[in-house]
Amino acid sequence: METLTHCFVCEKEKFTNYLECNSFVGTNEQFTIVACEECGFCFLNPRPDKEGIKSYRSLQNTNSESKNNVLGNKVDLFIKKRRIKKRFKLVSRIKKSGKILEIGCSNGELLSIFKKHNWETVGIEKNPEERKYAQNSLNLDVREEEELVKFEEHFFDVIMLWHVLEKVHDLNKFLTTIFQKIKPDGVLIISLPMCESYDAVLYNKFWAGFNLPMNLYHFTEDSIKALMKKHSFEIKKIIPIKSDSFYMSAKSEKHRLNKNNFLKAFRVGSLSNRMAKLKISPYSSQIFIIKPQN
Ligand SMILES: [Zn+2]
Repeated sequence: METLTHCFVCEKEKFTNYLECNSFVGTNEQFTIVACEECGFCFLNPRPDKEGIKSYRSLQNTNSESKNNVLGNKVDLFIKKRRIKKRFKLVSRIKKSGKILEIGCSNGELLSIFKKHNWETVGIEKNPEERKYAQNSLNLDVREEEELVKFEEHFFDVIMLWHVLEKVHDLNKFLTTIFQKIKPDGVLIISLPMCESYDAVLYNKFWAGFNLPMNLYHFTEDSIKALMKKHSFEIKKIIPIKSDSFYMSAKSEKHRLNKNNFLKAFRVGSLSNRMAKLKISPYSSQIFIIKPQN
C-alpha cells in the first residue's frame, strides 16, 4: 500500500475522509476515499501500489461470474457489442479518419472496427492475454503501457480512454504524456463514472462505480475540468451514457444485497437519468470530448 501526501489536482496536502467502502473483489478489506480540503478531488488513500493492484485485478477477473457479470453472459455480451458500436459512431461523428490510440483497449474489438474503416490504429493494454488476442487474432498493433512514451510528439488525431483514467497510478505524468502525443487539433475522449450522480449518492458505499480498489479516483464534473485545465486541455462537450445508470444500479444492487434486484435497479437507473436530464446531478457515467488548448 502507498499513502499519498499531495492532491493530484491542486497539490495541497490536507484531506478529509469522504467514504469508507468495502473491497469490490470479495476480500474482507475496507478502503478509504478521501476528499481534498482545497479542491474537493476524491481519491483512494492509502491505495495499493502499481504492483499490489495486479492481484486485485486478477481477483476481479476470476470473480466476474459473481460480481461483474450480473446480467449473465449473453446479456453482458449484447451490452458490450452495443457499447462498442456506439463508441465507434460517436468518434466517427467527430473525426473521419487518422491515427487513433485506445489506452486500455482490452482484446481490441473497438480498434478492429476502426481498422476496418481505414483508421491507423494503436492500442495499449496491460493484460497480456487480451493483448495477445488483439495482436494474433485481430492483427492489431497493441503494445504494453511502457511503449506509450516512445511515440513521436503530436502523433495521434484521437486518443480514447474508456473508463481508464480513474485507474491510472501516475495520473499527472500520464496526462502530460497524453498532451505530448496528441496533435494540436486532436481529440481526447474520456469516459468516467460520476460520483455525484443520483445512483452514486443513493447507493453510497455500495455504488459499483467506486469499484475499489481498482478505481483510484472518483471524478465530479468540477474535478475533471480542473485536472484537464491543469494539463492544458479543455472540455468541449459532455455526452451522457444513459444505459450505464441501469447497469451501475444493477451491479450496485448485487453488491448491496449479494443477489440481483433488477426491478429496483431499473427504478433507480430511470430516476438517475431523469435527475441528470433536469441538471440536478450528472449522469451515472459521462463521456468528455476534450481538446488541447492552443
Ligand atoms: Zn486538491
